[in-house]
Amino acid sequence: MPIDKLKNAIRDVPDFPKEGIIFKDITPILSTPDLFKTAIEQMLGGVRGKKIDKVVGIDARGFLFGTAMAMELGCGIVPARKAGKLPWNTISESYELEYGTATLEMHTDAIQEGDNVLIVDDLLATGGTSLAAAKLVDRLGGNVVDISFFIELAFIPGREKLAGYPVSSILKY
Ligand code: AMP
Repeated sequence: MPIDKLKNAIRDVPDFPKEGIIFKDITPILSTPDLFKTAIEQMLGGVRGKKIDKVVGIDARGFLFGTAMAMELGCGIVPARKAGKLPWNTISESYELEYGTATLEMHTDAIQEGDNVLIVDDLLATGGTSLAAAKLVDRLGGNVVDISFFIELAFIPGREKLAGYPVSSILKY
């Protein structure tokens, strides 16, 4: 079963980046070509048949999954970056973290009005990060066709936060 193989390769790192968090380390999958290929194939399965113009990859592990998917889909890849990293005109959305806030930015010309957009990140926890990305796409006139995650922490109500957007994930915990 591809799902079992993928799950077995994920390394749980307790208390990273802080106490009480079990960090899902996906680097063993990235460094094993057949596993990464399987992961991308599984994620593409969730959007098969949908017309997609742009993939938005979320800083930073979303870039890795998003780029691989965009290459297969034959569409552009757009980075949604942490504040202060993009060089040109940007729009931004701030969101709550456990302590304080964070901000995601996109270039104002990254999405064209009416573009069908697939948002990609490695992991869904609270949904705050991906909701900010979806709001950026909305503001630029894009149509969010799916928010695709490799991993979903289903014991956290991230999906509820993303209500109104289609959400898919491959590995659920
Ligand atoms: P959230 O905004 O709470 O949905 O958090 C999602 C972002 O934080 C993603 O970009 C993940 O890469 C990262 N993240 C949150 N929790 C974890 C975790 N337990 N393991 C690995 N990455 C995580």
